Amino acid sequence: MNVVCLDLEGVLIPEIWIGFAEHTGIDALRATTRDIPVYDDLMRQRLRLLREHGLKLPDIQNVIAGMSPLDGARAFLDELREQYQVVILSDTFYEFATPFMRQLGWPTLFCHRLQVESDGQVSGYLLRQEDPKRHAVEALHGLNYRVIAAGDSYNDTTMLTAADAGILFRAPDNVIAEFPQFPTATAYSELAGLIRDRSAALG
Ligand SMILES: [Mg+2]
Repeated sequence: MNVVCLDLEGVLIPEIWIGFAEHTGIDALRATTRDIPVYDDLMRQRLRLLREHGLKLPDIQNVIAGMSPLDGARAFLDELREQYQVVILSDTFYEFATPFMRQLGWPTLFCHRLQVESDGQVSGYLLRQEDPKRHAVEALHGLNYRVIAAGDSYNDTTMLTAADAGILFRAPDNVIAEFPQFPTATAYSELAGLIRDRSAALG
């Protein structure tokens, strides 16, 4: 049995923080795991910027409510879920992702939670565990599943390495250059084809 693990932002939905940066005009909020590979460094910068600008969770959620999955994402995911068990592994937070999950037909999502004060101030975040994407793949192996994984960024590479087959989807050139062992795709039809081929090779 094969399970497909997909990254969320950059694969099925736009980068949430970039959308928020565009809405608020705070350029420094555009940084993602593509720019700052150490996730805790990135999140501490984001939370500091929110505090400095007096922005709270409802402000972010208002922006997210106006965002949609990437073009073709829902159809790709629906088709994939007819063929495979699919788990989305993300470093985002349930507080941000829920509006997108509704639009994607409520797929299974493993991610993190924010710490939010009663006034809506985001005071911190709770990582469920370190390197959660890799641990999820290893846990699925422990359940006797083989795993095909696809993602676009640094925080996906341990997942892609642990998986039986890893695929880079719409990854930036620096990630592709650093991880040449993974095949790459830029269209959903290509990604679906690679998943199908890798799955057939795994048996
Ligand atoms: Mg991503």
